Amino acid sequence: MDRTLSPLHDFGVKNGIRFFLVSYVDLLGVVRSKLVPLSAIQTMERTGAGFAGYAAHFLMTAADSDMLAVPDVTSVMKLPWNVEVAWVASDLYMNGVLVQQSPRQVLKNQIEKATRLGYRMKTGVECEFFLLSNDSEVQTADLKDKTTKPCYDQGALMRNYKIISELCDHMKTLGWKLYQADHEDGNGQFELNWEYDDCLATADKHTFFKFMVKSVAEKHGCRATFMPKPFLNKTGNGAHCHVSVWDTTASTNLFLDAHGTLGLASLAYNFIAGVLENAEALVSILNPTVNSYKRIDGHTTMSGSSWAPCSVSYTGNNRTHMIRIPDAGRFELRLADGAVNPYLLQAAILASGLDGIERNLNPGPRSDWNGHLPAPNGIVLRTLPTTLLDALRKLSGSQFLRQALGEEFTTSYVEVQMERWRSYSRHLSQWELDNTLDC
Ligand code: ADP
Ligand code: MG
Ligand code: MG
Ligand code: MG
Ligand code: MG
Repeated sequence: MDRTLSPLHDFGVKNGIRFFLVSYVDLLGVVRSKLVPLSAIQTMERTGAGFAGYAAHFLMTAADSDMLAVPDVTSVMKLPWNVEVAWVASDLYMNGVLVQQSPRQVLKNQIEKATRLGYRMKTGVECEFFLLSNDSEVQTADLKDKTTKPCYDQGALMRNYKIISELCDHMKTLGWKLYQADHEDGNGQFELNWEYDDCLATADKHTFFKFMVKSVAEKHGCRATFMPKPFLNKTGNGAHCHVSVWDTTASTNLFLDAHGTLGLASLAYNFIAGVLENAEALVSILNPTVNSYKRIDGHTTMSGSSWAPCSVSYTGNNRTHMIRIPDAGRFELRLADGAVNPYLLQAAILASGLDGIERNLNPGPRSDWNGHLPAPNGIVLRTLPTTLLDALRKLSGSQFLRQALGEEFTTSYVEVQMERWRSYSRHLSQWELDNTLDC
């Protein structure tokens, strides 16, 4: 076979790779993979690795043809903690055509649309996580980490230095331009920040980051979780996303305007308005689990703040609203949580932002107050959906998102998620027994 036709094989030979993890992410964010030896990657790169789609979270049947995961060499990453293995994201085909419900495809469709309009979205994500002990009980690994205001706590950070510094080293090896790591606002909660990139690269990195954190934690006898709200009284795991839009050559940040309000150009305000306009319908994507709604419904925590939004609003450098403008040339969407599907996060933001640009929408006045307190002067803000069911109905009823994200994707996503909701509803909780036995 002609080796020049197999960049992955070349990568493998050059990097001493024994196996490739040929991977994709399904509708509920589960990473599915096959471990493919170097000797087989050349064929696999051409034909794809076969998967039964029904066995993953897709709207498919057991009778459907195999899905073929064709690896995208631009995403390949060597596992810094297991250097004989490389991970690669794939694009999914069935019967020779792209699978339109594949989250990576949904994002690629949005990127194609943005490119046609002359735009290129760059994003950075902040993936918060807790380090738990490895026993069956859900408790933080560091038993000394108990203060009610643990954010940035130096002692708690350094007690976990082995894991955190190993992750930092790995990110350096990957060339991600890590610039800081800290203890976050929940006991046992951490965050590592690396530089923003093209939104598809960010989605691939986000997927890989979660894999890396879980793997390294496990190596050190812990369990890492990105669950939105594993502890009711502690701040949940967010996945804030910082956004800027550039020209297609990525030479100019089109969101940056030194003379614009808070350093943002009118294009950025159109984009923000699109995200605000579609917010309720985006929630089932950005907050995709039953548990997600315990993070965004405005409960205060031990530290005094949930740091999560509860209304559809935007502001300046203020961490209590859904959208924050922390700096010139970008905004931060604080809505998504640790369970978000990395590809759908980017796709949902881009689709709604482009809507705002195309319709020249205006976000209206900023909400420059503490978003966890009632709004002043009788102002009434739209509130976010408070359950997964509520949020799914909003997505299902959004003509715009159905069309923008694709009918096949939206129908599949809503149905797969509704099955989740039904499964949850069939569960009998202690709360029901406690409050209803004596009815
Ligand atoms: P904070 O905790 O204040 O919200 P972090 O420093 O944790 O912010 O994360 C900021 C993220 O924003 C990083 O990933 C960073 O690379 C990214 N970022 C910075 N500038 C831009 C930009 N112009 N466009 C997109 N993302 C950006
Ligand atoms: Mg088999
Ligand atoms: Mg941060
Ligand atoms: Mg944080
Ligand atoms: Mg943030």
